[in-house]
Amino acid sequence: MRYNKQETFSKIGKTGQELITSSTITILGIGALGTNTLNLLARAGVGKIKIIDRDVVELSNLQRQTLFSEEDIDKPKVYAAKEKINKINSKVKIETYLTDLDYENVEILKSGLILDCTDNIYTRFLINEYSRKNNIPWIYASVIGSKGMVMNVTEKTPCFNCIIKEPNEPLDTCDSSGVIGSAASAIASIQATEAIKILTKQDYCRELIHYDLWKNKINRIKVNKNKYCKTCNKVYEYLEGKKKKLIKICGSCNYQIEIKKDMNLVFAKLSSLRDVKPENECLILENAIIFKSGRALVKAENENKAKAILDGYLG
Ligand SMILES: [Zn+2]
Repeated sequence: MRYNKQETFSKIGKTGQELITSSTITILGIGALGTNTLNLLARAGVGKIKIIDRDVVELSNLQRQTLFSEEDIDKPKVYAAKEKINKINSKVKIETYLTDLDYENVEILKSGLILDCTDNIYTRFLINEYSRKNNIPWIYASVIGSKGMVMNVTEKTPCFNCIIKEPNEPLDTCDSSGVIGSAASAIASIQATEAIKILTKQDYCRELIHYDLWKNKINRIKVNKNKYCKTCNKVYEYLEGKKKKLIKICGSCNYQIEIKKDMNLVFAKLSSLRDVKPENECLILENAIIFKSGRALVKAENENKAKAILDGYLG
């Protein structure tokens, strides 16, 4: 009953639905794109969804991050999203990872299909190498202002590194241009539709899709393999930890800082000194959130101020 309308759609049918229900996917980044894509694919009945995100919900996220509401502010996004999805479709198994994806824990991406809903280029190159090396399809998606892009990356297409040049320095994206909620929803809809095509073993778009919602313009751009592409030539610099990532988290005023201390001691000291109780494996302080896994998100104007605030807490 639940999937009646979807099964009646001739491109999916009962066979397609069974394929969707038996699949496992990973959604990386539960922000503007991730909440929308997760919502669509959980409703569509994907059997198991691994969700990875390092951040907590902020007031300024609610304009476009459709799974969250005011009561979720300060909650880790993965837990707030899981709660909502459990109410929407209790048949879907959600596995949460409150962590920052890095070359050291990259194996958590393992699944039948990886959906990139992140906002940073470092992570995309990391996913690209992991997927290429392990022959797992992934779908790149990005959104900025009223525009966005989607590209399927499979063994039959060029890879991300074939067509996107590595940046020399960290780039600010959504922080400088903003983003409208409708553009995030539209791009997520394209990504979720391509995901369903791949999961049901049907033909999918082999071009780069570019959509400008404000101008009502959609383009499909032909992309080519680059024979000098490092990733396609099995050189995996991101997987080997040779590339640095930036610490500013796009779309929020948070800086991420690693804590190299015994986290049990840090938690014990801070909870008694500041009179706060740990919740969901994190401690919420006035200007920072400290995670048990050994990192902090600090609200500050710049990196140096963020470090000073954290030092103040850790003593
Ligand atoms: Zn390539």
